[in-house]
Amino acid sequence: MSVRVRFAPSPTGYLHIGGARTALYCYLIAKAKKGSFVLRIEDTDLERSKKEYELAMIDDLKWCGLTHNEGPDIGGDFGPYRQSERTHTYLKYANEFVAKGLAYPCFLTGDELEELTAKAESEKKAPHTYHGKYRDLDPKEAAERVAKGEEHVIRFKNPGKEWEFKDLVRGNVKFPVDMVGDFVIIRSNGMPVYNFCCVIDDYLMEMTHVIRAEEHLNNTVRQLMIYEAIGAKPPQFVHCSLLVGEDRQKLSKRHGATSVKQYRDQDYLPGALINYLCLLGWSHPEEKDIFDINALDDIFNLDRFNKSPAFYDINKLKYFNEQYLRALPLDELVAGFSRAIDDSHEWHTKDQQWKNDFSELFREKVQLFSDIVPQLGLIFDEAIEQTEDVVEVNGWETTPTIRDYIKSEVQNIKNSGSSSISSEQFSEMMNHLKKGLKIKGKPLFMGLRVVLTGKTHGPDLSKAIPLTPISTIEKRLN
Ligand code: GLU
Repeated sequence: MSVRVRFAPSPTGYLHIGGARTALYCYLIAKAKKGSFVLRIEDTDLERSKKEYELAMIDDLKWCGLTHNEGPDIGGDFGPYRQSERTHTYLKYANEFVAKGLAYPCFLTGDELEELTAKAESEKKAPHTYHGKYRDLDPKEAAERVAKGEEHVIRFKNPGKEWEFKDLVRGNVKFPVDMVGDFVIIRSNGMPVYNFCCVIDDYLMEMTHVIRAEEHLNNTVRQLMIYEAIGAKPPQFVHCSLLVGEDRQKLSKRHGATSVKQYRDQDYLPGALINYLCLLGWSHPEEKDIFDINALDDIFNLDRFNKSPAFYDINKLKYFNEQYLRALPLDELVAGFSRAIDDSHEWHTKDQQWKNDFSELFREKVQLFSDIVPQLGLIFDEAIEQTEDVVEVNGWETTPTIRDYIKSEVQNIKNSGSSSISSEQFSEMMNHLKKGLKIKGKPLFMGLRVVLTGKTHGPDLSKAIPLTPISTIEKRLN
């Protein structure tokens, strides 16, 4: 039987990074087993589901490189892949359940439910204790009340026994007899609920694996009951470890950016984000941290999953992005910097060679494309900030000598019609300072840096200076 794994998001918001990690694991398991990765949209919550979120999710998954083999946008043999288009199927099963006595109409009103919940609470019982009021109503009477249009839900008749299943990562999971009561499968507005549709779909779509977030672990008990009711064998379950923030609490908005969209907007590299997410709950057999997720087919399996909570660390993610920027083709690096730099900045007036040289010079100095912005001053700032370090270097005995010499050289170069100092001219100046003026070591390197750039640190001067407009250097010297 071929492996089929689904990712089943509800389109009630942008793709969460936890969701992206789930999708990644689904994708990787399907790929490693030469199976299918299926996208199913769970949009039965009509109020909260939005088409725009569905489209954004599909777009974000694509950006992450997690291409599905079947889904609402591309179709497939098991469609439709949007739950809102499958209502008739769920209702067919629900009616069959009612006919077979596996489920029943329940006429409890909102007020009654509240009363019963309060009663259960006062007796220190679980809130669902009294939800079975209509369980034994004569089916004929129930059918008549339904036919008359009386408001009702359909509840599943909990068979009342212990449940157990084997999670491929967590091992055996047991649920006590009284964990849930007779739960709703069809709401009063006629819409089915998640725990019901999910099973019907996973069954009809022939899913072999259900890989999802830990928060769905407790839903599994209801789902096992539905599998039994339809006479189907449940798929293999994996509940992924929780993602937590630095306070060890479940990752949420207060921990910072939590949607894939926010990272896209900040121009993170998708490979870096996905590579990092992959390691939050799985480890590489060779302990590698940087790898292409599409090169894992032979090694990705569930044995290396970790069930304890994974710590989501934005600084670690930035480190991954930095590593990916180091390996990025030059044209993509230049394009990324161009996007980050304000349209009106002088950078955009420079020719391709200049942009290439500049980008290579700063490639290893940034973690994000936008980190280039504060670095621009090194090339373009005319004014010198008199920081403590700068004042100190300016106070050294040798610095005025360096400044005077550079000033006259810059004047000569300018007079020759050049708009910048070439690397040859720069090394000639260095030679003269060393050999002719006998300035060496720190006084030379630091003095020259402060004189030319007005800063005490920065990238290789012999590469930065040829990129700096000579008019800017002139203003710094004065
Ligand atoms: N629609 C559910 C969610 O977005 C899917 C849960 C599942 O994978 O079964 O959390």
